[in-house]
Amino acid sequence: MSPVASEGGHRFDEMKVMKLPIPDYIQNIAPYVPGKPIEELEREYGISDSVKLASNENPLGPSPKAIAALDRALARLHRYPDGAGYELVERLASHLKVTAREIVLGNGSDDLLGMLARVLLKPGDEVVVPDPSFLMYTIVAQSAGATPVKVPLKQLCIDLDGMLERIGPRTRMVFVCNPNNPTGTVAGRQAFESFLAAVPPHVLVVVDEAYFEFVRDRNAVSGLNYLKAEQTVVTLRTFSKAYGLAGLRVGYGVMPVPLAGYLNRVRMPFNVNSLAQAAAVAALDDVDFLKHTLDTVHQGLDFLYRELGRRGFQAFPSEANFLLIDVQRPADDLFERMLRQGVIVRSMRAYGYPQYIRLSVGRPEDNQRFLTALDRACAPGAQVQ
Ligand SMILES: *Cc1c(COP(=O)(O)O)cnc(C)c1O
Repeated sequence: MSPVASEGGHRFDEMKVMKLPIPDYIQNIAPYVPGKPIEELEREYGISDSVKLASNENPLGPSPKAIAALDRALARLHRYPDGAGYELVERLASHLKVTAREIVLGNGSDDLLGMLARVLLKPGDEVVVPDPSFLMYTIVAQSAGATPVKVPLKQLCIDLDGMLERIGPRTRMVFVCNPNNPTGTVAGRQAFESFLAAVPPHVLVVVDEAYFEFVRDRNAVSGLNYLKAEQTVVTLRTFSKAYGLAGLRVGYGVMPVPLAGYLNRVRMPFNVNSLAQAAAVAALDDVDFLKHTLDTVHQGLDFLYRELGRRGFQAFPSEANFLLIDVQRPADDLFERMLRQGVIVRSMRAYGYPQYIRLSVGRPEDNQRFLTALDRACAPGAQVQ
């Protein structure tokens, strides 16, 4: 079933009869299908107490300091937000040791992807993307009429040499998702540096570091270390994952000042709302909460590797807060069997891995619950009712 049809069969036909001249490149976009929300599962299946391990959210919830900051910010909701995000930008600048002018805030880092596309892309351009990787790269390229050029992963890692080979005169951007979603792999320093040295100056390198905080590999790199005007590297980060603020939508990009200037021209003036700004400042300060989050995720990963290994499942080493698991059977079917037990994971079929699932690491009790549901779903004779 195509994602469009699964969204409610009538919509596809409605689009066909519409007389508006929607460009082909928009009509051809396959809609992004997010992880199933808990509320939707419980409504559809009439169950309660389900657990979502499908969108790599923080299993501990938001930082208590962020919640307190939200409380304080509520009384000022009648005011427009600070369009420049002054306090958050200043705090980020000192935290990251960059200048405020190099930072652009977004309504989630997705918003930054949209701004980059509006600034850089026009129909006919090309964008080099790893495959599989975050599906939004393809969608934002297509929404600008640009062509995504997909470069398959090599042993689950982004093939930087392969990406270089696909860069041509029409290439405007190349995406490096580090760690890569959905494989959890990172680029090593040497490989990344040779890659950067070989990328021609007309191509923007976008390093998406949505899972940066979770990385344990000491040889991993950050785009932030390559921030200089002549090598155009943009680093994207977010408060949605380790900082636990996915629902508020706040992320940022760090880039050379002139490029930030262009992004600010196309940015909606109040793209990051006042609650998001207040909570992000507080979350950034809540060092204890971040540490607790990282400890929980790292212990959870190690536990899940052991337990999955014992059951004969291969889980690939991940530097992020999720893991990719070879379930040795159709992932959509397993997804469905898990759903019925109130456990939401992500089938990787849409990413081109029909026998893999992606699991976000939860609290110890969530991880245990996942294993119990997995055992039941895989028991001989188990049926989807
Ligand atoms: C979750 C995620 C994002 C972030 O999204 P937000 O818009 O900041 O919530 C960006 N890139 C990747 C690879 C992700 O997995």
